[in-house]
This record gives sequence, structure tokens and C-alpha cells, in this order.
Amino acid sequence: MIDAKWLDERLGAGFSDGDLLAILECSDEETVSVFEAARRVRAGSFGRRAYLRAVIEFSNNCRCNCHYCGMRKDNRQVERFLLTGEQILAAARTARGNGIRTFFLQSAETPDYPAAWLADLVREISSMDMAVLLCVGVHDPSDLDLWRDAGASKFILKHESADPELFARVKPGLSLEDRISELKTLREHGYEIGSGPLLGLPGQTPSTLVADLRLLEELGAEMTSVSVFLPARGTPFEALPPGSVDLGLRFVAAMRLLLGNTLIPATSTFERLRPGGQLGCFEAGANVITVNMTPPPVRESYELYSRRFFVSLEHARSVIRSAGLVEFSERASSKPILVAGPPFSGKTTAGAEAARILGMPFVDLDEAVERRAGMPIPSVFEKLGEPAFRALEKECLTEALEAGGPLVMALGGGTLLDGDSLGLALSKAVVVTLTASTDTLLERLSAGRPLASDRRALLDLLAERREHYEGLPGRVDTTGSSPGDSALGIIAAAVAGS
Ligand code: SF4
Repeated sequence: MIDAKWLDERLGAGFSDGDLLAILECSDEETVSVFEAARRVRAGSFGRRAYLRAVIEFSNNCRCNCHYCGMRKDNRQVERFLLTGEQILAAARTARGNGIRTFFLQSAETPDYPAAWLADLVREISSMDMAVLLCVGVHDPSDLDLWRDAGASKFILKHESADPELFARVKPGLSLEDRISELKTLREHGYEIGSGPLLGLPGQTPSTLVADLRLLEELGAEMTSVSVFLPARGTPFEALPPGSVDLGLRFVAAMRLLLGNTLIPATSTFERLRPGGQLGCFEAGANVITVNMTPPPVRESYELYSRRFFVSLEHARSVIRSAGLVEFSERASSKPILVAGPPFSGKTTAGAEAARILGMPFVDLDEAVERRAGMPIPSVFEKLGEPAFRALEKECLTEALEAGGPLVMALGGGTLLDGDSLGLALSKAVVVTLTASTDTLLERLSAGRPLASDRRALLDLLAERREHYEGLPGRVDTTGSSPGDSALGIIAAAVAGS
């Protein structure tokens, strides 16, 4: 019987193939515990972070003949298209305007465009401050380098099945061995990689799905996904039944339990087969949803399966909200978030709350200085003087930023007055600046701040530093806000500024 204890033991000691099989075949009652554990694992790595992406499918012309895919070369029922660069850039601009920071360029394996054309688009989209993810099939290593140098950082190449015979049967002329080697090549050429199976292929069994999980584990893929098979017209699999949504959801949970901190999308096939299916994926441990930006006149022709479900921005945001998660950006996830602002603007309370929501470590720079000095801040000022305090502050900040990695740090009110610290912060972190009305800051006045010990001192300090605070990025007004609301403001500003 799979229950919380059974799962905790395996999360500590590891999952055997038999354990993974048991998860894929578990009862409805056991599924409740499996999904709860998957959400716990997700929270351990990501807090309440969920990621929104935008995809444009720019060509459906394919040189391959996969039996399950409507875009296969021999399918004469599909109208072929290749979007123009301007259409692609317009979609990227719309996505960016809606606060989406990861743009996903997807196409069938087409010989219809030169690598340099795609490189120019990648460069242009990167210059909009967006992460670029490619899913364009197998290409020469020189093309991979060209696109990476243009700004692409992530590449998805689905393996579809880790059973070599099944792979060869559904993807004629291709081999699993080559696919694995192509995924490793992507890694060698500097990409974060994504892969995953198509669930519900004829001849697939729970055991072959365990092999899929093991392959994803072996590859160390940063992005892992599962789509449920749906038949496409004009293909050899046209008359086959779709795969099982429930098995797909258990596969999502198994990926989360086995792989931990991977990015797992809630794919549209779940919603197409069952309204609420993408929310089901989030309940099983997924943490990514992708908005479809392919223009309506052609998007029906990107026929991975027939009668597709197209994810709108409203739908994606509503799924994230319903799952109790908070929209975040993949770029902001890899950088420290520094919370700046005047004394009493709420940097420590709201910053700590933001860190809790995001599942990131929280550092209070004043506390770090106190630990290093071995005395409280007022004593540092009294015994060593302000220049010594500033030097300690700069040292602690520099060390944290040089170490890199995700964290939320509440700065001191004057930390970024130093030009070197400001330069470092802007280049290595996302800076969010809290503000509040003067009356609010005065109301929050409390003891323990050497440079803002009373109303007069605080008013003088605010007047002296007004220009400095006004020049800092990512402003969030905390007047009248609870720490929770201010924390959500920090998160939104971090996404916008990442
Ligand atoms: S699955 Fe991909 S490679 Fe295979 S036919 Fe469809 S678009 Fe082409």
C-alpha cells in the first residue's frame, strides 16, 4: 500500500524500478498520497513558484514520418506553413508586453529555413530580455553553436519512448541510440536540455514508462515532460484510442518524485482530453504552463494531434492561481533578488515573506554584518564608526553575489549608495526597491537604526537620499500593504526586472 510513510522512505533512500511501477499503477486512494508527496517535493525545490512560457510554432513542414504525428511528411491532408520573421517577432513582443519572460520557438524538422535566419530571430528576442527555448528537431552542431551564441539557452528534444523497438516502430528511419546521443550533444554545446515520452503509444507498457523515467534521470534533464497520445487525421495511428489521462498524471507525479527540481509542464494534451487536466498536472507536481502564440489562421495546421486545445494567457494564469502558485520567471530563478529601499519600507518582513513564497533562502544583510562584526549594528556604529560598517556591508554583499544562486536579500537602507556595490548588484542580481509614503515610514519608526533614530533624523536621511532611491529600479510602494501583499509586489517586480 502506497502511503505517505512509504513515499517518505523512498524519497530518502531512492526509488527502485518496482517502486516506480507501483506508482504508475497505483489505486485512486494511493494516488492522493502520491500527488501530495509530489507537491511537497515541488515546494521543497520551488516554493510556490510556477513558470509561464509563450510558444510560437513557426513551421509544420517535416522531413520525418513519425506514425503518430499529423505533420509527418507523407500526410497530404495538412496544409504546410512557414511563418515570417516579423510574425514571430510580433508574437514575442506581445508575450513580453504581457510579462512573459521565456519564449519558446518550436517547429517540425524542416529544411525550409537557414540557420542564420533563426539565429537572427533568437538574437532579436534575447535583446527583448527574454530567455529563448528551442524545440526544432535535430540539427548540425554548428547550427547549435550559432543559436546558442545568439542567445538560446534551452533546447527540447523529445525522446518519445525509451524502448528502442517501440521508438524505431513509431519513428521510422530513426533510432533511440541516435536520439540519446543528440541529447548529449545538446548538453555538450551548452544547452539546458528537455525531453520526455509520448504516453499511450501502441505497445507501450508501464515497464517501458519506467525506462522513460530512468532515461530522464540518466540525462539529468532540466526540463521533463509527458504528452498524452491523441490521434491525428491522415496518420497510420488515426484510428487508435487516446492515451490515459490518469496514467499521464501519475507519470507527472513520478517524474517529480524521482527527479526533484526539474521543470515539468502541464501539456495541452491533458486539457484537450479532460477539462481541468492541466490543473490536474499541477496537482500532480507540474510547475510550468505554456501559452500558445501561434497565429490562429495556421495554428490548427500544427497538427501534432487533431482538434488541439490552445492555451490562452487567461487560461494559463487561471491554472496557476487555482493551483495556489505564484507566477515567476525562469531567469529570475537563477539570480539573487536584492530588496533595497529606505529604512522602515518593509525590506526585511516583506523580503522574508517573498523568500518563503519562492522557496528561496532569505538573508538579512544587517544580520550578516552583525555576525561578521560579532556585535549589534548600533555597537558597530558606536565602536567602529560608519566607514567600518559600510566596509563590512560591502564585503558581505559582494561575497553573496559572487557566490551566485537564488536567494532573497534585504539590504540596508544605504547599501547601494556605494557605486561599486550598486554596479555589482545591477549586474549580478535583480534589484527591487520598496518605497512608502513619508507618513508611513514615520509611523513605522522604531529603535535600533543608528542613522534614523528619531523623526528628525529619518526626515533628514530621506531628504538626503531621495534622488538615490528614486534612481533605483523595480519600485514597489508598500504604503498600506500587508507584508504578504508587499511580498507579492517584490515577486512581480523581480519577474519584470529579471
Ligand atoms: S513528431 Fe516531430 S519529427 Fe516526427 S513527424 Fe512530427 S514534427 Fe516531424
